[in-house]
Amino acid sequence: MNAALQPPSPADEDRFGPLPRRMTREVVIGGVHVGGGAPVVVQSMTNTDTADVASTTKQVAELWRAGSELVRVTVNTPEAAAAVPRIRERLDMMGVGVPLIGDFHYNGHQLLAGEPACAEALAKYRINPGNVGFGKKKDTQFAQLIEFAIRYGKPVRIGANWGSLDQSLAATLMDENAQRANPWDAGHVLREALIRSALDSAVRAEELGLPRERIVLSAKVSGVQELIAVYRELATRGDYALHLGLTEAGIGSKGIVASSAALGVLLQEGIGDTIRISLTPEPGQSRTNEVIVAQELLQTMGLRAFTPMVTACPGCGRTTSTFFQELAQKVQAHVRDKMPEWKITHPGAENLTLAVMGCVVNGPGESRHANIGISLPGTGEAPSAPVFEDGEKTVTLRGDRIADDFVELIDRYVERRYGANSTA
Ligand code: SF4
Repeated sequence: MNAALQPPSPADEDRFGPLPRRMTREVVIGGVHVGGGAPVVVQSMTNTDTADVASTTKQVAELWRAGSELVRVTVNTPEAAAAVPRIRERLDMMGVGVPLIGDFHYNGHQLLAGEPACAEALAKYRINPGNVGFGKKKDTQFAQLIEFAIRYGKPVRIGANWGSLDQSLAATLMDENAQRANPWDAGHVLREALIRSALDSAVRAEELGLPRERIVLSAKVSGVQELIAVYRELATRGDYALHLGLTEAGIGSKGIVASSAALGVLLQEGIGDTIRISLTPEPGQSRTNEVIVAQELLQTMGLRAFTPMVTACPGCGRTTSTFFQELAQKVQAHVRDKMPEWKITHPGAENLTLAVMGCVVNGPGESRHANIGISLPGTGEAPSAPVFEDGEKTVTLRGDRIADDFVELIDRYVERRYGANSTA
């Protein structure tokens, strides 16, 4: 037998077992466990004016319903700080318990001092060491923020960013580099400055009394290769829980591809305890898209399951109508809509696999690999669509109701397999 046709060996299957995870300190953020081997957590950030309580509450709830497990809000003015406890209160009344993270820059020490209720309502403070303060005030203001975290029992994320790099640290490292026998290139020095900014700040926070179990680190850049290099290095230099994200990833497919490329490599190496996909929404697009992309990245990598995944062929000259694309879209939308309910009533349904295929060439084969799949008729084929459940052909659909009938079969399968009386 040709080696390429050999069935998979146990050794091959091992390669597809659970991905190795780098062990970090576990941090608990409002009840959500990050690091320490916990599943990778999805987070997102609002783009509303936080001072606008109604619209921020609405968007946080939307992000949570889409699956965001932590939501960050900008806290940049006294009005925004005053709004945070009111947002928290409204969310709690709606049954939306998602932890809120406050994003502070420049004046966080003043805002937390002026609004104790904000300091209390937030589940974590994000501090950017590059712009926590400047000159002599930097260390004092950083210490004040850490003291608030200690006083209110909150974790912090020390989040360095390429776009707001600590310029005095970068200058110092540039000077040190000039003394080296073999100087690094400028990019290497700047990456080191970003890593040092995060690590040195974390060490300082620990010296001030904040336990390591309350510190998450990030060091975000906007280039894929730079991000991979920075996080690989960061992961070797401490056991802090790590937040991953490609900053300013961009709009549309570029942002999705760049984020997935960078985060995919790192997650594959076991690096990263929580992720955010920093997409620029297209005009009119929902902010929740960044949550869906983060979930799909983790699910397609086999790290977590959130919603049933639809395998669909790309279509080709054998699919001359749009029916096949419409059915694939309808099925994906249906299972995504149903998932919040299924999560409670049919636990495990998120692991369901579906296939919507365009013709007989790969249709029956791919459909047999899914829990439930349909092979639609391509051009010239008889107008019938065989359905396969767990590898067996169960029914052939015909006529105008193929789409509705297939969706009904999915619901019945979920009921049977994941319902209260199932044995799964
Ligand atoms: S399954 Fe059929 S319709 Fe789909 S891409 Fe393959 S040949 Fe084309």
